[in-house]
Amino acid sequence: MLAIIPLKQGNLHINWQKELGQAFTSPEQLLGYLKIDAAPWQAGFAARRLFPMRVPRPFADKMVKGDAQDPLLRQVLPLGEEFAEVPGFVTDPLDEHDSALPGLLHKYRSRVLLVVRGGCAINCRYCFRRHFPYAENSPDQAGWQAALAYITTHPEINEVILSGGDPLMAKDNHLARLFEELAAIPHLKRLRIHTRLPVVIPARLTDELRELLSTSRLQAVMVLHINHANELDDELSQRLNSWRQAGITLLNQSVLLAGVNDDADTLCELSERLFSAGILPYYLHQLDKVAGAAHFAVEDTKAKALMAELLAQLPGFLVPKLVREIGGEANKTPIDLGLEPTLS
Ligand code: SF4
Repeated sequence: MLAIIPLKQGNLHINWQKELGQAFTSPEQLLGYLKIDAAPWQAGFAARRLFPMRVPRPFADKMVKGDAQDPLLRQVLPLGEEFAEVPGFVTDPLDEHDSALPGLLHKYRSRVLLVVRGGCAINCRYCFRRHFPYAENSPDQAGWQAALAYITTHPEINEVILSGGDPLMAKDNHLARLFEELAAIPHLKRLRIHTRLPVVIPARLTDELRELLSTSRLQAVMVLHINHANELDDELSQRLNSWRQAGITLLNQSVLLAGVNDDADTLCELSERLFSAGILPYYLHQLDKVAGAAHFAVEDTKAKALMAELLAQLPGFLVPKLVREIGGEANKTPIDLGLEPTLS
């Protein structure tokens, strides 16, 4: 049974939760903080009706003051383009809104995805789950037991992916109980956490959480979501280094986004910085065609040309796989680059 245990006073969790509570939710305040004139952007702020704005201060601190085209700002600022109705861009691009059980998606044979928390610390404007009905997919205690029972009775599942929203929105004591319940299921081998929270609030990488993962029977993998080298500053790199030294595998997936990272130098710099921090570039996703995000889309022809440049400039292990998710498909679909890469 999963239960919430009260936090101890002085616990490090307070810090990240405080940061969460102080996130910018108003574009005017964020632009004021960044010393950018809000007037030219004002008309687009109504897009908050479609998807609220949420930007933690540590992430805003990585943006360049005075630069309205900052690649981190572009990921979070509501714009008028979100109202555009573009053919092919829909509310449920991956056919996810009907799950096996509330909070549990069984898309891949050996892996199951648990929606641990509906919310995120940051609201990325291109998010493929910006219309996801989290309210219907947030299990209560009985729902959790049903999800665990489902995993227990499916021996083909060897990996649980904690997702969301962002699973690290859950408190450490809640996660501890969940990890314990999962580790007791004998056919599980791995626990994978998909998260962007440490990127936007590095204090979320608590020592307690690292200890929980590094001492679990299950092999722990953390897949970060970093789109631009500026998101990976020294503080985050140092914290992640201790996680890697504790034996937690660190991978990264990015989304290819127009105006954010759609040029080869930016992607090369990202791969280099990831590797310096002990993180392997894993996937580069083509944008999921979610309504409201068409202005972030990059044509396949351009994506392939970028990949050719990455293959020419980087060693093979620093080149992420270019993939796209297709609703109903059992796996991510690699995009054929039509190249004969030289192995290195
Ligand atoms: S952190 Fe991930 S799930 Fe959350 S809003 Fe951003 S892209 Fe979506």
